[in-house]
Amino acid sequence: MRVTHNVVDPPVVLVFAGHDPTGGAGVQADIEALLSQGCHAVTVITALTVQDTRGVYRFQEVDPRMVEKQSEAVLADMPVAAIKIGMVGTVKMARSIGGLLERHPAIPVVLDPVLRGGEGGALSEADVSNSLRDLLLPLTTLATPNTPEARRLVPGGATLEACADGILRTGCRAVLITGTHEEGDDVTHTLYQQEGAIRRYRCARLPGRYHGSGCTLSAAIAGRIARGEPLPAAIDKAQRYTWNALRHARRLGRGQQLPDRLFWRRGEEESRG
Ligand code: PLP
Repeated sequence: MRVTHNVVDPPVVLVFAGHDPTGGAGVQADIEALLSQGCHAVTVITALTVQDTRGVYRFQEVDPRMVEKQSEAVLADMPVAAIKIGMVGTVKMARSIGGLLERHPAIPVVLDPVLRGGEGGALSEADVSNSLRDLLLPLTTLATPNTPEARRLVPGGATLEACADGILRTGCRAVLITGTHEEGDDVTHTLYQQEGAIRRYRCARLPGRYHGSGCTLSAAIAGRIARGEPLPAAIDKAQRYTWNALRHARRLGRGQQLPDRLFWRRGEEESRG
């Protein structure tokens, strides 16, 4: 496991993410989740999207040269303790981000391999899953695919264990396959690592449909890693945080509910009067 050398207070986390105008997913989810872990998010937008709480309709990538220049400027200036990658979108963007990770090998990387919106709609070109697998997974500390994404990353993987094995074989240090899309009263996320036993993280399934739950979980894990926490504890705390953000979610549009990632402020506001 890569170690964190760059811990300052607050730890700085570099985020590559798409912009979701609803504020439910993408860069806004990452900023709020990182803030809630006591981290400072520095953000590089990879794509703009057209979407609402009912689906994704369109996306447009940012020029990868801008993404590279923005991130190199920040990395040269600030002590980045962890990198979180969300929406990559295109093969060209995967190449740019891959080059950047190669130039900064000491920083732990959490990759959420975003391919489609939860309510449908592409958030990537057709062949991006190959690029994520070949260019980014080998440089990743923890990947956090949901079960459909794990199957897309390892086509022909007969079971989720086989998919996890295929992901680890790229050189990726650990993979957390999230179980929200599977059936059952509970949701189980499963951690597979190069070194160390398989671990399962279980929580009660909440009844609603939520926008940005995957972004929230992976950003919270990145924040915990940036704080220097070991991976199993980081995942445990991030899962509890995400579950609480979903439990406090609000239906602000006509579709999915939006997590309240700042739920923890409610008590403080009440006591302040
Ligand atoms: N928009 C962006 C920019 C995202 O990164 C994601 C997911 O990672 C989504 C939309 C979809 O979020 P969800 O699948 O929770 O609806």
